[in-house]
Amino acid sequence: MATRSYDHKHIETTVQEKWRTDNLYQVDISDSPDAPYYLLVEFPYPSGDLHIGHWYAFAIPDIYARMLRMQGKNVLFPIGFDAFGLPAENAAIKRGLDPKKWTYDNMDTMRTQLRRMGASFDWSKEVITCQPDYYKWTQWLFTKLYEDDLAYRANASVKWCPKDKTVLANEQVANGFCERCGTEVEERYLTQWFLRTSKYADRLLEDLDELPWKEDIKEAQRAWIGKSVGAYLTFKISSQKELLRVFTTRPETIFGVTYVVVAPEHPIVNKLIDDGSISNTKEVREYLAKTSKKTERERSENKDKTGVVLDGITATHPATKEIIPIYIADYVIGSYGTGAVMAVPAHDERDFDFARAHNLPSKTVIKVTGDDILPMTHAGKLVNSGSFSGRDSMDAQMDMIDAVGGERATQYRLRDWLISRQRYWGCPIPIVYDPQGNPHAIGIEHLPWTLPTDIDFAPTGKSPLATSLELLERTERIFGEGWTPECDTFDTFVDSSWYFLRYIDCKNLDTFSNDIAMKKWLPINRYSGGSEHTTMHLLYARFFHKALYDLKLVPTKEPFNERFNRGLIMGPDGHKMSKSKGNVVNPDDFVEKYGADAVRIYLAFIGPYNEAGSYPWNLDGVKSMRRFLERVYALEEKVTDIPAQEETTNLLSQTAGKVSEDATRFKFNTAVSALMIALRTLEGNESLAKDSYLTFLKLLAPFAPHLTEHIWEHLNQEGSIHSTQWPKSSTVQEPELSTVVVQINGKRRGEISLPANTDENTALSNASNIPFVAEALKKGKPKRIIYVPGRIINLVI
Ligand SMILES: [Zn+2]
Repeated sequence: MATRSYDHKHIETTVQEKWRTDNLYQVDISDSPDAPYYLLVEFPYPSGDLHIGHWYAFAIPDIYARMLRMQGKNVLFPIGFDAFGLPAENAAIKRGLDPKKWTYDNMDTMRTQLRRMGASFDWSKEVITCQPDYYKWTQWLFTKLYEDDLAYRANASVKWCPKDKTVLANEQVANGFCERCGTEVEERYLTQWFLRTSKYADRLLEDLDELPWKEDIKEAQRAWIGKSVGAYLTFKISSQKELLRVFTTRPETIFGVTYVVVAPEHPIVNKLIDDGSISNTKEVREYLAKTSKKTERERSENKDKTGVVLDGITATHPATKEIIPIYIADYVIGSYGTGAVMAVPAHDERDFDFARAHNLPSKTVIKVTGDDILPMTHAGKLVNSGSFSGRDSMDAQMDMIDAVGGERATQYRLRDWLISRQRYWGCPIPIVYDPQGNPHAIGIEHLPWTLPTDIDFAPTGKSPLATSLELLERTERIFGEGWTPECDTFDTFVDSSWYFLRYIDCKNLDTFSNDIAMKKWLPINRYSGGSEHTTMHLLYARFFHKALYDLKLVPTKEPFNERFNRGLIMGPDGHKMSKSKGNVVNPDDFVEKYGADAVRIYLAFIGPYNEAGSYPWNLDGVKSMRRFLERVYALEEKVTDIPAQEETTNLLSQTAGKVSEDATRFKFNTAVSALMIALRTLEGNESLAKDSYLTFLKLLAPFAPHLTEHIWEHLNQEGSIHSTQWPKSSTVQEPELSTVVVQINGKRRGEISLPANTDENTALSNASNIPFVAEALKKGKPKRIIYVPGRIINLVI
């Protein structure tokens, strides 16, 4: 049997043209009777060139969008551009290009490339963040936050990237280096705009519990928010009237304190040097100089447990009144807590290591039941603790805080979000200053507050907007003589914190979105993106949405229901693709040679899409997918007018079940295997009923949208294969599992997966597989069990 020629170029361009003229993917936002499904992919930055990572980000979720449509859902699958940002401005500086033109040219190129991959985006919903009709609403939403005291201006120590010549948010600094360019950041003291993310820390944390996200994504956010409950305690310093304040999560170990440590950057260190209290000044200064060269990560690792005692001063223990030494050591970070800690070597590993290295005493103050004294014990009976000895350590906590005049407190790692940037190509901050220098939000009648164009791009470290005469004149004309404009622009993460709301009604001139439609389409059913956004974009967008929810501007408290982080495509050598390594795969070469469908299926097959793994690109991989598609095409020659055979029909309905189930969980790789197995069986038949072939094509359609559409037409079928109904499936459905959060005394200790109808006893026995729970249950039966099937089991012990 001769293989028919599979002219992918002709097929793909013809089919794409047909989809375009038929407006096949335009979704009816308000009137469709079909159930809405909002599938969101992170919109791209218009870098101008679609690399393989873009294909992976867009072409693969497209499989799911196509399948959902065939399954009767009204699917919103939009795309747009996160179009403000540094590269445009850098092109302006380096090559004298207009940043706007550079951006718009790139978007044109990328639109063509996105169409080439056969992605079924609804282009009528396109959102472009650098367009005044979009950023007008970014500005307006900011003014709402400002009126609600969620935006403020403050003088603060901030991180500055000397290469990008702008401040950065904490989230944009990785271990002391700029997250985008890798330059070591500097500290600067500047007046900047902030959003009060810290006010939402608890809600950002608590509401995670209800989200059906993978535990590793939730854990990353929890760690970033970094809530710790403890107390502020104070130590009197010998040479000073003032007190040294420490934050501790273990106030019940106060009697075990044998020394205190301050961070090298703690303001008290310089004060003590200046007033002559410290006698080993030279040694201290040397240590400060050494530490300032280290990154935060090197410091927190601090393998050698370096530190220097401050000679000449001591601290008084607040409970025992003993005199104890004070150290500076860089394992204590200035920005965490108060920048000073009480050290309890008997019950803290880092303090233990430090104490051993510096020959400091250790004093055990907690004993587990029985007579064994174990190091690092967390809870038990207090010993060597004055009048508290003999009491349960957890029960005594509050009394001990009171006894030493401490105060209960909660600390977060999450800081307020620094949103001003000293760059040009961004959304202007809609603020003007009166002649006294007080800030005022610009009213909606003057929005959009447009980005000026008479700009000097030479990077000076000052905001380029300050060079615009037009902006100053505009401000004075509207607000009066002596008024001045804010010259910083927003961090682009502000633009992307609400773009998914605009997709719902992107042409609305009266407001940022549409109330009725938002009720119908929010929260977003599934959001697919890169794992690098877990503690940046994903956290910012959740904060922004919650703030809008409190302002009654959006109907849901969370923007996204499911979140899937995709994996990473690596070079053929298994390393991250980079030009310097020469291992960059250019998708265009493969599309040219084997076709877009072959590239799509290969990417679907390369590994499970809902796991943040990394998959090396196999140079023969696309070729073998091409062969698979050729066989699908050739199978048409076996089609005759015979009635469908029962065996074939059964096979296809089983395949439909498998493909549907796997694709729903974004396991496109196993879905493709199921299609391959089915093809082999169909090929084994002498002849094939047309209905069976059409059914197989429908199952393949989301994966290979062009070829299947072409054969569909060739077989004289009506309309588009992508508008047909998904074939009936016959798999026996396994009961659906839900995630049950396991708590002990209200504290989360893990989670288990159980069918929703599981009874309490079974749930308890499953929960006791968690080591922490097993340990707790050893002490006795729970007093009470609160069990909500499918959600939570809380053991009161
Ligand atoms: Zn940088």
